[in-house]
Amino acid sequence: MKESLLHHVRHLPAAQLPSYVYDLPSLRQHTRSIRATLPRRVELLYAVKANPDPHLLQALAEQVDGFEVASGGELRHTRALLPDAAIVFGGPGKTSTDLDEALSAGVERLHVDSEQELRILTSVMGHRTADVLLRVNAPVMIRRTALTMGGGPSPFGLDPSQLDRCLQIIADDERIRLQGLHVHLASGLDARAHLALVDEVVSWADCWRRQRGTELTEINVGGGMGVDYDRPHQTFDWSAFGTGLQQILARHPGLTLKIEPGRSVTAYCGTYVTRVLDVKFSRGEAFAVLRGGTHHLRTPAAKQHDQPFEIIPDDAWHLPWIRPEVRDEPVTLVGQLCTPKDVLARRVMINRLRVGDRIAFAMAGAYAWNISHQGFLMHSHPTFHHHDEGDRPVPYKCVCRTA
Ligand SMILES: *Cc1c(COP(=O)(O)O)cnc(C)c1O
Repeated sequence: MKESLLHHVRHLPAAQLPSYVYDLPSLRQHTRSIRATLPRRVELLYAVKANPDPHLLQALAEQVDGFEVASGGELRHTRALLPDAAIVFGGPGKTSTDLDEALSAGVERLHVDSEQELRILTSVMGHRTADVLLRVNAPVMIRRTALTMGGGPSPFGLDPSQLDRCLQIIADDERIRLQGLHVHLASGLDARAHLALVDEVVSWADCWRRQRGTELTEINVGGGMGVDYDRPHQTFDWSAFGTGLQQILARHPGLTLKIEPGRSVTAYCGTYVTRVLDVKFSRGEAFAVLRGGTHHLRTPAAKQHDQPFEIIPDDAWHLPWIRPEVRDEPVTLVGQLCTPKDVLARRVMINRLRVGDRIAFAMAGAYAWNISHQGFLMHSHPTFHHHDEGDRPVPYKCVCRTA
């Protein structure tokens, strides 16, 4: 952890833990370096569902070409926060209200997920126009990954056999302009595998376009760039990815590509900080019970990994009895929930961990707080802090509904 962030984490008042600390300068720098590797004809959108935190979205607004939202809620949230940002609206199961709002909000692109959705769109448009991408479950081979959204049977997007009917509906309706295709098929690929997938998708789309005699100026190839929680320092090879995209684009002169990563953009900027409440031994194994748990940070439970962490020893912590500790052995870090699934890291070797020490879980900036079952057991919510230039801790009230 960088020094200024460590200082921030160490000095958070104990009563405020657990806390999420978002490192905004790192996020800006990371996103800027991603942008710098991408060719001009590639637009970078951020998938808001990875983390919709307002400060993060504001920091990202300076670095990205736009935002991908996947629900009416994300659309309203993003539009209210960033009135001038380019927004594309994807996601399954859009309602007529969603589509109506999207047209009123002036979204740049609507990603149509099915023929039914296209019909609903035509029924709510009135005199308005829409620029659409058809989301298609393109018939390509995908190397096995943790999360696959297409390539086989899938609830997402159109089956290729449905494309012609949608083309016809669009051709018969002058209010709708088909701008291209959207293909988000897999998540967790490394740069080489991801490039191979993009290459296949673009070739398939080009072939489809020729057969149909339509123009195809734009393909959104989705997100899903890999994040390796076991190797925090091994990030997605954006530089190789950018070079590869450049080569693909060179073969398709009129084409613009869009990408919409979420996890690989914000995962690294978030830290979940908590402290050790108890250390115990059960049938020869060590457990540390932490304040908080997977109801704040569901990522390790959802993805079945050990969340990477750093121990921040607190030597000033005093107890009127012997301070429980574990030394030089594997320890399992659990939270405060009454379920055996509340595990943040399993049998990880440590040097020393005591009651009162702080633990900073890294890579907690995406699919972390916002995918967690926050109401389970009615524990209090974490506090939120945005580490920014000058290291001023910026306390920030949680915007999530507490109902
Ligand atoms: C979830 C999602 C993304 C973002 O995926 P990441 O794995 O966070 O990069 C992008 N596009 C679509 C359509 C998605 O469903």
